[in-house]
Amino acid sequence: MTASRTASAPAPARPHRHEHGWITESRHPTSEGVIVYVRCAECGIRRVDLIPLCGLSQAAASRPAPSPPTA
Ligand SMILES: [Zn+2]
Repeated sequence: MTASRTASAPAPARPHRHEHGWITESRHPTSEGVIVYVRCAECGIRRVDLIPLCGLSQAAASRPAPSPPTA
């Protein structure tokens, strides 16, 4: 389990460990990606995620291409 330490440091105000159950509060598409505001349904902590556009389906469509020939 955890290493046994006999330090008498005051425990910070930390809720019991749990796996956060993130629920999406809102999402906002921007030019850089989709900003998703999520909140843990159990402890209420909030988090902001940025889902980059380039990391999704656009990656397959975007590939280095030479400059278009100008006639
Ligand atoms: Zn939580």
